[in-house]
Amino acid sequence: MIPVRGFDGAVVAVLGLGRSGLTAARALAAGGAEVIGWDDGETGRAKAEAEGIVLRDLTKPGAFEGVACLVTSPGIPHLYPAPHPAIAAAYAAGVPVDNDIGLFFRSFATPEWDRYDVTPKVVAVTGSNGKSTTSALIHHILSESGREAQLAGNIGRGVLDIEPAGDGGVVVLELSSYQTDLARALTPDVAIFTNLTPDHLDRHGGIGGYFAAKRRLFAEGGPDRAVIGVDEPEGLFLAGQMAEGPGDDRVIRVSAASKLNGAGWNIFARKGFLAEWRKGRQVGSVDLRNIPGLPGAHNHQNACAAYAACRTLGLGPKEIERAFKSFEGLPHRSQRIAEAGGVAYVNDSKATNVDSAAKALSAFSAIRWICGGLEKEGGLDGLRAGLANVVKAYVIGREAEGFAMRLGSDVEAEVCHTMEAAVARAVAEAQPGETVLLAPAAASFDQYDSFEKRGDDFVEKVRSALG
Ligand code: ADP
Repeated sequence: MIPVRGFDGAVVAVLGLGRSGLTAARALAAGGAEVIGWDDGETGRAKAEAEGIVLRDLTKPGAFEGVACLVTSPGIPHLYPAPHPAIAAAYAAGVPVDNDIGLFFRSFATPEWDRYDVTPKVVAVTGSNGKSTTSALIHHILSESGREAQLAGNIGRGVLDIEPAGDGGVVVLELSSYQTDLARALTPDVAIFTNLTPDHLDRHGGIGGYFAAKRRLFAEGGPDRAVIGVDEPEGLFLAGQMAEGPGDDRVIRVSAASKLNGAGWNIFARKGFLAEWRKGRQVGSVDLRNIPGLPGAHNHQNACAAYAACRTLGLGPKEIERAFKSFEGLPHRSQRIAEAGGVAYVNDSKATNVDSAAKALSAFSAIRWICGGLEKEGGLDGLRAGLANVVKAYVIGREAEGFAMRLGSDVEAEVCHTMEAAVARAVAEAQPGETVLLAPAAASFDQYDSFEKRGDDFVEKVRSALG
């Protein structure tokens, strides 16, 4: 655990008593704060009480009297569509609002570090897609190279739950836009921006707010190195803003779409090869074509970003390449789960938005595509680029008819509603050489509690259909 500094003897309120809230409460108490907690739900309150946390209804008038700070959880709206009433009350009372990420950055460094040979480092990863894969890949490469590495944030452990860093230790943090929007301290040593496509717009008041939330990771702390995916205008803008000039190699530009020619530090993947250029010279290359854990151009973007971060931490190209080869990928992200009769079965349940699904469709050919669910804002037009690889779509979800209709006439679509029916039809019709791919392009909440449950259901139905 990382005890929270700066609140010894002060009253700190924690809103949301789920996993991250309870961890924050414990870490605050370990640092000497007097913690009061609140959760709209009975279960969270009961759990907190069982741990001895004093409850106070933070929505009641006067609740913030004497409170030094409100710490809130990422699932609770703090601005759009409307602030939670307790957060609104904190704003009105002038009480600072923070989250576990902000608490982490103010508490991570300890006086012990003076005795270390190599100061611990924090690598923070943000972006619309590829955060988890990139974070897990960096963690894997560092671990394989014998470096002390911990993975936390949106993936892995709660950030205040990790161990204090040892000499030369690295913490890899996956940060969502909700987390970066609110954290009052954001000071990573290396910050990564993977890409930007519309997502979670309701929580950020539109794409501008969404980008601004992610940009804070760079603008607030001024990381020593910024690794920036420049395949969208927002990435290009950010890279330009962070750099003093074209040769400034504190900014590493990353692309999975085009060769980068600038005088600075560039890492790009084309036709399956990663190339590293610095000051106009090629200094490294990796063949990514046959790495099972990193299929498709989208994963090559993740590989470039992870490679960049590890290079800044002093690792060599060969070491990184070796670790790429043993990376197994993450469950529910382009994960090959079975192969039978020449047909591959791939679980990409995490493709909850149109962009990530389009990327998955581009990574395979001759696809029997299981899609559908709770559609996000913005329509399905973003899928067009990937549809050429689809032999047939099998549509699941409560609104399967509408989803199938909106796919349009470019693709044959069968309305299946349930995973069981979709898998049965795809298994029956798939030909050798084809891929049955779950990449829903929609959230799962109309039929499942989470994308993980949806992916597990796909795996189970495939296994029983294959016998
Ligand atoms: P995040 O943590 O940002 O949601 P994940 O690594 O969990 O990212 O991947 C989420 C989804 O996006 C998966 O469907 C995955 O296959 C796809 N994906 C992974 N990397 C990228 C990328 N660089 N660009 C676009 N889509 C990606």
